[in-house]
Amino acid sequence: MLAMSSIDPKTARFETRAIHAGQSPNPENGALMTPVYLNSTYAQPAPGEPIDGYEYSRTTNPTRTSLERNLASLEGAAWGLCFASGMSAIDSLCARLSPGDHVVAGLDLYGGTYRLFTKKYQRFGIEFSFVDTTDVANVAAAICDRTKYVYVETPSNPLLGITDIAACAELAKKAGCPLVVDNTFASPFLQSPLELGADLVLHSCTKYLGGHSDAVAGAIVGNDEGLREEIAFYQNSCGGQLGPLSSFLILRGTKTLALRMERHSESAMAIAKFLEGRDEVEKVIYPGLASHPGHEVAKRQMRHFGGMVSFELKTGVPGGKAFSMATRVFPLVEVPPIMTHASIPAAERRAAGMADGLVRLSVGVEHIDDLLADVERGLVAAAAAVEPAATA
Ligand SMILES: *Cc1c(COP(=O)(O)O)cnc(C)c1O
Repeated sequence: MLAMSSIDPKTARFETRAIHAGQSPNPENGALMTPVYLNSTYAQPAPGEPIDGYEYSRTTNPTRTSLERNLASLEGAAWGLCFASGMSAIDSLCARLSPGDHVVAGLDLYGGTYRLFTKKYQRFGIEFSFVDTTDVANVAAAICDRTKYVYVETPSNPLLGITDIAACAELAKKAGCPLVVDNTFASPFLQSPLELGADLVLHSCTKYLGGHSDAVAGAIVGNDEGLREEIAFYQNSCGGQLGPLSSFLILRGTKTLALRMERHSESAMAIAKFLEGRDEVEKVIYPGLASHPGHEVAKRQMRHFGGMVSFELKTGVPGGKAFSMATRVFPLVEVPPIMTHASIPAAERRAAGMADGLVRLSVGVEHIDDLLADVERGLVAAAAAVEPAATA
């Protein structure tokens, strides 16, 4: 029978909440999905008395509300806010800072986050300390009495560094500032930062939450009502809200999140093990491998180890380039030295732990045999690649 009431959020498991939380069938016709409310303004039964607070869609929109409730449920949060992009979410987070405030942030943050912090907010007098958060002693040492956020990404990208969320939460609590975790790479299915003591969880929904490469979106979820009010104030002031069609697409994406993350993780583990046994490969970086320095922490705070695998080819930059050109199934082969991190001088890149032969694979949900055959093709091409002769 089609139940007309929503699920019990206290007893329903993740997979069930993913499909139902934030949505209930339309009582007039039974339609299961929240419609795309292409709507800017709302009629009010009496002036100043909008229905459920719906006045204007920059502030709230019913499709967005459905997604916000769905994401809050998946992260075990009291509230959620959805933004036009992950960057827009981080921007609203920073908008509540004032000149002189200080942020402790991870060293290998998403490039766009680093750009926003250093090119925009540093100009407005916000100070950032970028530290290797995989060693919490670095976080402890960087916190000062002006620190307003501890901001971490785990697993990080492309080096898949693992930061101990519970340990950072303790430090942030002592300092009286919120711990923000960018949970994009793990997704709420693999990691629940709020349960580990974090105050705010941030997502680029563009990635795993959406899951179909068809929408750009961001989100922040949390439990503290004061923080929600402040962040929502800046979101509404700046107009960084997520539109109704994208809200609908992300809401559709979260229904299969659990299925996808299980497959991503299973295939990534198989590929990591395959790479470990290959002569062309110098080193494999995957939090699921016992050889990963963050393996024990990852085991503690993640349900599976995720879909990202990085590795170093023995043939350096030419090897990485040849690998990426030879693969056909993997659309998301990332070769940091010539792509995302090309603007960083080679010596600096190496000092930050990024080998010349570094390649990052985003392991999809294609058949594992096709993925492995693709990796094999890439490795054969990489082995044949040679450094161009040095020119005088
Ligand atoms: C993509 C990404 C972002 C930025 O999100 P957009 O939706 O692209 O604006 C932030 N953090 C991480 C970890 C990301 O991968």
